[in-house]
Amino acid sequence: MLIINAPSSLSDYLGSEGVSNARVGFIPTMGAIHEGHLSLIKQSKKDNPVTICSIFVNPTQFNDPQDLTNYPKKLIEDSHKLRMAGVDALFVPSIEDIYPNGNKDIHIYDFGKLESIFEGTYREGHFTGVGQVVSILLDFVSPDVIYLGQKDYQQFLILKHLIKEVQHRHTNVRLCPIIREPDGLAMSSRNELLNTNERLDATSIYSTLMNVKASWHGDADPKELRRIGVTQLQSVPSIHSVEYFEVANADDLSTPERFEPGEKYLALAAVQMKNVRLIDNMFLNA
Ligand code: AMP
Repeated sequence: MLIINAPSSLSDYLGSEGVSNARVGFIPTMGAIHEGHLSLIKQSKKDNPVTICSIFVNPTQFNDPQDLTNYPKKLIEDSHKLRMAGVDALFVPSIEDIYPNGNKDIHIYDFGKLESIFEGTYREGHFTGVGQVVSILLDFVSPDVIYLGQKDYQQFLILKHLIKEVQHRHTNVRLCPIIREPDGLAMSSRNELLNTNERLDATSIYSTLMNVKASWHGDADPKELRRIGVTQLQSVPSIHSVEYFEVANADDLSTPERFEPGEKYLALAAVQMKNVRLIDNMFLNA
């Protein structure tokens, strides 16, 4: 596995023999690599002869400076895992590589309603930051396919919109399922920041989603499903606040008055533990 820091070296690699004409799959990450990330890599390796992964902890998508400080950084361990997974090239740019002019010249995208609901409500500016960094990374890598995790479903919708509607890129967007710990907790780099009690209690997010999914049927009342979810999560000792638990249309995250035949729905949750914020979601009728 080649480890590449400078964008000019990445460009040389992309132009090299065996790479320049090959289909390239790309997995952008913020590091602290776990099985969730590795599942995206596995999918890319299945689909493409060349798989490129990036690690960049993007400051512009962190609304909480403490969250950025606490974010786990472990490049040596990560590169070992990625090498073992068969990644062809790991791109690890510096902040100056991504934002050479600091805050100047950074493009602010308009994602409409999608950026002001759910994660957008609780993490102001988050999707602006995500849009900025992914657009810059895509300029550098220009992949045929980008692999994104369902774990960050709203981010997937935002990036799909950015790629297809705003920038009209040739890149295909592929959504990959959530990888969970054996007890159901969605894998996340932030899980390692949980203390023992929080880690045990965190499984309640999965059991709540499963419970709501089990209560779903075509004539169910979305408000009632929401009530079941919120009530269950609020009863968990380590959960300080339930930021949201909602049932939404998978196309645009609009919240339905009733379920319509032929539409796809999912439940989404965000909870705040003492120092860690966790998100998760689950399709209800798929
Ligand atoms: P991150 O490093 O958290 O920015 O995540 C990089 C990519 O991995 C994103 O597309 C995430 O949605 C995806 N990802 C994170 N956790 C999981 C998981 N548990 N299962 C599948 N994909 C994940």
